[in-house]
Amino acid sequence: MPARNTVQRQVIEETLRSLANHPTADEVYDAVHAEHPSIGKATVYRTLGRLSDEGTIGRVRINNGADRFDHRTFSHYHVRCVRCGRVDDVMIPLLGDVDEAAARASGYQICGHTLQFDGICPACQACGEERG
Ligand SMILES: [Zn+2]
Ligand SMILES: [Zn+2]
Repeated sequence: MPARNTVQRQVIEETLRSLANHPTADEVYDAVHAEHPSIGKATVYRTLGRLSDEGTIGRVRINNGADRFDHRTFSHYHVRCVRCGRVDDVMIPLLGDVDEAAARASGYQICGHTLQFDGICPACQACGEERG
């Protein structure tokens, strides 16, 4: 049984890495299931949850959308296209001062922050200029 779980974990983790661009759990499941029909949806969801809980993969919580999974585990920001819903990385320096400012303003002990940019991706800009 442990061996089977290990194989499933590896398959799911490798599929996530091959999909690269912040897939949802459903998208990971579709790709896993195409290659490994024996791996069910519940297993994919549970395994993604475990991998992100233990920090092997990242989980990106999207405002008004399904969680995305990320093969990059270091802290970084994301931008979501308001037209097609794709999510990309925004590799700008992390805002180091905001945690401290938030702590002062709220009295909370701040353990981190998330920042989601919303915008229109280059592909949607190219095909939807008249809607702009
Ligand atoms: Zn788009
Ligand atoms: Zn990312």
